[in-house]
Amino acid sequence: MTATPGRVVWFTGLSGAGKSTLASALYERLSAQGERVELLDGDAVRENLSRGLGFSKADRDTNVRRIAFVAGLLARHGVTVLVSAISPYRGTRDEVLAGLPNPVEVFVDAPLSVVTDRDVKGLYLKALAGEIEHFTGVSDPYEAPLAPDLHLRTDRKTVEVCLTELLEHLGVRDVANA
Ligand code: ADP
Repeated sequence: MTATPGRVVWFTGLSGAGKSTLASALYERLSAQGERVELLDGDAVRENLSRGLGFSKADRDTNVRRIAFVAGLLARHGVTVLVSAISPYRGTRDEVLAGLPNPVEVFVDAPLSVVTDRDVKGLYLKALAGEIEHFTGVSDPYEAPLAPDLHLRTDRKTVEVCLTELLEHLGVRDVANA
């Protein structure tokens, strides 16, 4: 018997844009509704699956390809996979997404000035001071999606509004707000 394929919701954007926040909120909501769902978070992946990789283009691409490989395995067994990873290179993103079942690219977008103000992990201050090499948006490129399936401006909308848009896009009945 072949399982009905799941889907892969891929959150891309600058550090601090809101990928983890939205992916976690979506994870909670889908789990609560009984959906089989897994979250592959960039930071956790780098501590485990991609431990030892750095931030060169080659290493970033390897990281993204590893995440996509695992996401594909899970999705082919009917799991909804939520990926939260900066994944800065458009070509690599497009390539891996094209190989995944039912991919949904979500551009989590806030201007550099806003993510710098948020500075969730305290890294922008250091990066702007020149203390961190290869920091996306400061000393390393971020190539925004040209035609994402969903574009969420997190500096203009609340987490709750973004979550509602995500659920609508995915065709998930928003039980909590029904
Ligand atoms: P990333 O995973 O992209 O590095 P995080 O989710 O860790 O970013 O941090 C995003 C920060 O922005 C959090 O402090 C979150 O509360 C805040 N934030 C404000 N508005 C939003 C929004 N609409 N969506 C997601 N995060 C938001």
